[in-house]
Amino acid sequence: MGEDPASRVYVRNKERACEECGIYSEKYALPEETTQEELLGLIDTLNNKTSISGILVQLPVPKHIDEKTIINAIAPNKDVDAFHPVNVGKIMVGNYDFLPCTPAGVMELIKESGIDVEGKECVVVGRSNIVGKPQAMLLLHQNGTVTICHSKTKDLAAKTKNADILVAAVGIPNFIKGGMIKEGAVVIDVGINRLENKKLCGDVEFETAEKIAGAITPVPGGVGPMTIAMLMKNTVKAAIINKSK
Ligand code: NAD
Repeated sequence: MGEDPASRVYVRNKERACEECGIYSEKYALPEETTQEELLGLIDTLNNKTSISGILVQLPVPKHIDEKTIINAIAPNKDVDAFHPVNVGKIMVGNYDFLPCTPAGVMELIKESGIDVEGKECVVVGRSNIVGKPQAMLLLHQNGTVTICHSKTKDLAAKTKNADILVAAVGIPNFIKGGMIKEGAVVIDVGINRLENKKLCGDVEFETAEKIAGAITPVPGGVGPMTIAMLMKNTVKAAIINKSK
């Protein structure tokens, strides 16, 4: 909904990924002034449309729309973002159909890189519902010892310096400096920040961090593409789940 330029890019990338995977997709680019009732009406139509397995409302929505009401309106079995409270609860107890795409992408990167989470000190900087909190839960599921840091955390550098696996999801460009990282740590940068010169950068200062880290993800080209890949995975899973109903 609306004109958010970053959202436009994200939606276009998701459309392209669907095409590449052979997944049928429909896009609804709604004008800023669309009412909440109209948006809820569209979600209801898609909830009941058998040719649609997954529904994603690209966030943020404009200010006159209540994000929670929108998330709650998506049928949990079509909630490929895994933001609905039913899916969030299922993740908490470890018996889930879908995982939220960004934290799931981070876990896939860790797994594919042959990194074992068990017993590791894991520090997640950020506690949002879409990244930080579920990320901490997924690391805990893999038997990591997890610390969640946020805007009120005291002496952040002492916490991050203790991390064997550090996930940054803060939304502040170059926030985590090399000096805040433990020698040899795995550093995963979820941040996507656009600088004034239009360049993208992460939450980690790559130039100083890469000299200290044992492994590090770049921005762009690290977690971002994994998020989209996990969305495709969730959509295929939703298609299978909904077909068997
Ligand atoms: P958010 O603004 O909802 O949350 C940011 C978190 O950072 C908050 O929990 C806050 O407590 C914490 N924080 C803020 N200032 C801090 C400080 N000084 N010290 C410690 N913690 C602090 O953001 P979000 O939606 O979780 O996104 C975080 C970043 O990840 C953004 O850059 C966003 O663009 C990016 N993102 C990337 C993807 C992807 O696919 N790669 C997906 C979602 C979000």
